[in-house]
Amino acid sequence: MAKFSIDLQAGKVKDDDAVGSVGQVIVGIDLGTTNSLVAHVSNNQAVAVAGKDGKNVLVPSIVHFAENGDVLVGEEAKPFLTTAPERTIYSVKRLLGKSYGDLAGARNRFGYRVIDEDEDRLVKIAVPGPDGEDRYYSPIELSARILKSLKTRIETELGSEVSRAVITVPAYFNDAQRQATRDAGKLAGLDVLRIVNEPTASSLAYGIGLRDEDEGRTIAVYDLGGGTFDVSILRIEQGIFEVLSTNGDTFLGGDDLDQAISDHWIKEKQLTIDTAQKRGEIRLLAERAKKQLSSQDSFTTEFHGTTLYLDRDLANVLFTPLIKRTIASCDRALKDAELTIQDIDHVIMVGGSTRVPLVQKEVTNFFGKEVNNTLDPDQVVALGAAIQADVLAGNQTDVLLLDITPLSLGIETVGGLMDPIIPRNSKVPTRVGRKYTTSVDGQKNLKVAVFQGERDMVKDNRKLGEFVLSDIPPMPAGIPQIEIQFYLDADGILRVKAMEHRSGQSQSVTIKSQYGISEEEMAEMLIDSLSNAETDMKNRALVEARNEANNVLLSTRKFLEQNASWLEVQQVNDIGEYAEKLAQAVAGEDKDAINNRLDELNRFTEPLAHEALDRNVAAAIKGDGISAK
Ligand code: AMP
Repeated sequence: MAKFSIDLQAGKVKDDDAVGSVGQVIVGIDLGTTNSLVAHVSNNQAVAVAGKDGKNVLVPSIVHFAENGDVLVGEEAKPFLTTAPERTIYSVKRLLGKSYGDLAGARNRFGYRVIDEDEDRLVKIAVPGPDGEDRYYSPIELSARILKSLKTRIETELGSEVSRAVITVPAYFNDAQRQATRDAGKLAGLDVLRIVNEPTASSLAYGIGLRDEDEGRTIAVYDLGGGTFDVSILRIEQGIFEVLSTNGDTFLGGDDLDQAISDHWIKEKQLTIDTAQKRGEIRLLAERAKKQLSSQDSFTTEFHGTTLYLDRDLANVLFTPLIKRTIASCDRALKDAELTIQDIDHVIMVGGSTRVPLVQKEVTNFFGKEVNNTLDPDQVVALGAAIQADVLAGNQTDVLLLDITPLSLGIETVGGLMDPIIPRNSKVPTRVGRKYTTSVDGQKNLKVAVFQGERDMVKDNRKLGEFVLSDIPPMPAGIPQIEIQFYLDADGILRVKAMEHRSGQSQSVTIKSQYGISEEEMAEMLIDSLSNAETDMKNRALVEARNEANNVLLSTRKFLEQNASWLEVQQVNDIGEYAEKLAQAVAGEDKDAINNRLDELNRFTEPLAHEALDRNVAAAIKGDGISAK
């Protein structure tokens, strides 16, 4: 177990962690929906790093794939949002760690193509490649592009290589989303020492949570950005920030304030907005008005010969219903945490839209206390991440850090992939459960092989042990619900339990996770995972594409058997041909080829699958007893 201990007399941190040598820079990164930024601690002060122009610290979270194959990130990619939307990916954070099923109706909100073949798979984004064939990117790869550009930015600033980072995520991010963020960091060549909740980072930015007297304090973090709103209630217990509740609206933010202003002008002046360009222009003017009204009383401009005017009083009237919605969320968050306003010790303001004076006023009124708003609200999260990074680097001498696990623990899944269940740097003791299912019809046994390490393929990690969950009642693939629980105690003892929920069958093992591994070996495993990140990622993407293709081939075979009675010979032959092409691609090494063949097969079978369903439903209604499967 990595232990950080403090030698109080000497006022120095002793750091036994394999990678945490004192003095090396570890950076803090806020990977945001709209903008991202990187910060570090310099001369005891957290500072966000600007780009080449020396002023702009915000990097728009946008990636553009040019027709000639070039990839642009940030400010350079932004103009293509309007000129080449299908090749310009924004808001990728909304897709991170999500399956198509998770997105539901939101899929069509994006200007680019989000592929939707199977509800349960993680999403992919298709972008036309230079040769006209689609290229498929995972949100992880796209986020890695943004992280890489932040890495380059800070390396230029410092004049040295940076390989370790703390990255923030919203408090409500689930395991899959956190793991995806870690993977993105790794792919960008960053060893992600810790994933920190954004509200926790915001508290640290204001110095809350760094001192003993903060023990037991309760904090409300109000975060109103460009497109999202979150409120989190945190409590500091034994030096750990515990999230008591979160609330918010993933589609409410500064953009809605802009919309309210432009809607008002359109109605007041009876403007005709008949082109996308005019729509864009008036939104920009509305945003300018909003920003100006944060510091001045009125705003005037011209729009195609019409004078547009707005003063702060009227803006406040327009903003009120939206701000009231955020206050209602604060109220719900308090109720969920079973707290009252009096229980809140600190209120912290985060996100560009908290610059709106009415927002400040309403939040102050609601909580009945002054809010923390002296830091730049766009930078708070990154500054806090930098402070957490500095603590990890051992530079903050009076801060206590708790025990953490130095390497990820996980199990082997289909295709030899490592599925980390307890990520490295998790606090211990910890308990994590995850659900799995079988991949073969009638599967009776499930081998649970436990591994330790950071590489994507289990063969490159260290095997800790394995056991077999037997006597699973025969069921079709995908039906059994097998929960695997990892419980890691403070001494590094890992207990792994597997249980099939329908039958109640269970089996468990106890493993000493640290056994026989030296600090050097541990450091080597970490370095290995970084230097092989790109190859690992490619291998993982290939194995995932193959797994998906094999599943689809299996269901295609079942589909042909079940629907032989009505399918035409030509249709059967065509399906066979598409399936054969897919099987050939699966035998190859090109994930885009597999995805393209998969796309073709799915496109061909989709209408037939609908027809099969209609026929089964009709038959069931007639009482033929054919199950609609
Ligand atoms: P974020 O996602 O945190 O970067 O928030 C960006 C949002 O903050 C956008 O909607 C901006 O229009 C808004 N914003 C930035 N500056 C101001 C300002 N001075 N007054 C009001 N809103 C602002």
